[in-house]
Amino acid sequence: MTVYADNAATTKLSDIAFDAMLPLMKDIYGNPSSLHSIGQTAKEELEAARETIANAIGALPKEIYFTSGGSEADNQAIRSAAYIGARKGKKHIISSKFEHHAVLHTLDALKKEGFEITLVDVYADGIVKPEDIENAIKDETCLVTIMTANNEIGTIQPIARIGEICKKKGVLFHTDAVQAVGHIPVNVTDMNVDMLSISAHKFHGPKGAGVLYARKGLILKNIIEGGAQERGKRAGTENVPAIVGMAAAMKYAVEHLEETSKYISAMRDRLIEGLKGIERSRINGSLAHHLPGTLNMCFEGIEGESLLLLLDMKGICASSGSACTSGSLDPSHVLLSIGVPVEIAHGSLRLSLSAYNTMEEMEHIIKSVPEVVTYLRGISPVWEKIKKGENK
Ligand SMILES: *Cc1c(COP(=O)(O)O)cnc(C)c1O
Repeated sequence: MTVYADNAATTKLSDIAFDAMLPLMKDIYGNPSSLHSIGQTAKEELEAARETIANAIGALPKEIYFTSGGSEADNQAIRSAAYIGARKGKKHIISSKFEHHAVLHTLDALKKEGFEITLVDVYADGIVKPEDIENAIKDETCLVTIMTANNEIGTIQPIARIGEICKKKGVLFHTDAVQAVGHIPVNVTDMNVDMLSISAHKFHGPKGAGVLYARKGLILKNIIEGGAQERGKRAGTENVPAIVGMAAAMKYAVEHLEETSKYISAMRDRLIEGLKGIERSRINGSLAHHLPGTLNMCFEGIEGESLLLLLDMKGICASSGSACTSGSLDPSHVLLSIGVPVEIAHGSLRLSLSAYNTMEEMEHIIKSVPEVVTYLRGISPVWEKIKKGENK
């Protein structure tokens, strides 16, 4: 049995998306900028996809800019606001400590370029406090960027409330909604956002396609210069097959949101019930405001890497947190930001589910995780001390 439980890293391409993409690769392969019929047919498909996506998030088609994915959308959103701000002498940006690296590393780069960055706390429940944002806003603030849902622990942020504060204070507000779109309701008006990032491969669309939503009237700054595609704001021949696949996947996800969410959260709840009894374990992040399919746990006395390798041998594909930090030995910045001690943060496990999972697979996980945890603790030199509370 192979159980794919790493859907926060990426998802399986759905048949619906695949079937939508095929004709764009085989027959309608024209360049949407070409004037001939095959180019213009591709252009029509591209614009139909733009309209589908706009409808799915309550936006206008002209507010949708296609990108290569979530990372590019985050980079462009933040750099656009920084550029607009800098021209007015406003060089202060507010974000949080547990954002995705596409946000945090862009902010690091801007800091080197003379911007002041404030990262607000996230607290033990994994939720940003709107008051902290309000208190951090000053005259020089040009942007607030807070993710809609965290990719490691699955907590959902009070985006509409933060957006309201930003609106009142006249500060641009961006949200990385990559983990949210297709999983929970996302509407740009209800959320009071000026910019929002989307990535297709997190909701069963293809990799390498994403969207930056930017409110009408907001002038983006180019990250990629060249042709006049995307109203001159993102050069490069459009990845039409992937964009059309993304639109098909998004339409399906949004139309089936409620039933999918119910199906997935029932499996997640079964996992919690089956795993929470493991000695010296903890669930990270409040479950009160949470994505349906993400569960993040820590097991004391264990290295996450060993846990993942042994689970993989049992056919379970999981993650220790972010796909972007695996391969490095640093503990997750997300877990540290919610106050998990460094030594415990090393023993993390993220299980993230999709509609392709089954309850039978959950039972396999519930049987396997305690076996692996017990085995690893058995060969751990520190476990006995930890158990007696002496490992301080
Ligand atoms: C996956 C992810 C991204 C990056 O999206 P890509 O399309 O892979 O570049 C950004 N933010 C969050 C929260 C993510 O989960």
